[in-house]
Amino acid sequence: MAHTPDTLDLRELALKSGGSVERVFSLGIAPVMLGGLSFDVVIKGDGVHVLVRRIGGGYLLDISLRATVYGPCYRCLEEAVLEVQASQEEYVPQRVEEWQEAEVSAFIDDFVVDVAALAREALVLALPLKLLCDESCRGLCPGCGNPTASPECACDVVEPDPRWSPLAGLDLGDAENGETSGPPFDARST
Ligand SMILES: [Zn+2]
Ligand SMILES: [Zn+2]
Repeated sequence: MAHTPDTLDLRELALKSGGSVERVFSLGIAPVMLGGLSFDVVIKGDGVHVLVRRIGGGYLLDISLRATVYGPCYRCLEEAVLEVQASQEEYVPQRVEEWQEAEVSAFIDDFVVDVAALAREALVLALPLKLLCDESCRGLCPGCGNPTASPECACDVVEPDPRWSPLAGLDLGDAENGETSGPPFDARST
């Protein structure tokens, strides 16, 4: 793996057992796709933090970042903005022959950590399945195609009150059967 500014070679840190060091990487994350939509990522603060701890048998990595994610709302397609705090731990065993492929990140190759790829993975895992402009977003208006109840939507959107729905099936007709007839008597008989 090439040594670019976005990678970290754990051996070059020359950490003694129990020692730790933190490195900060100023890097960009390409837009991420979520449900077929593209979202821009802006990393906040000074960059992606990587804390490396030398522990028995290997290294423990802690990758963390804060980012703002911009993209279309899942329901109305207006811009949605989300603040994300992402972090991920990775273990890198010292003895290569004891490595289990499944336990070691694909982004760590021979003690060289692809920080950009790990940061991207951590961010994607921290994102919700759907990004909304607001939890209460009502989506697009079926009448005009604008976001429902937005200034552009002048439609009179009246949702039926669900409490009245049982009455819809009631026949409140003219009650010609039954209860109108009182006890039979002839007023003239008294
Ligand atoms: Zn929305
Ligand atoms: Zn409308």
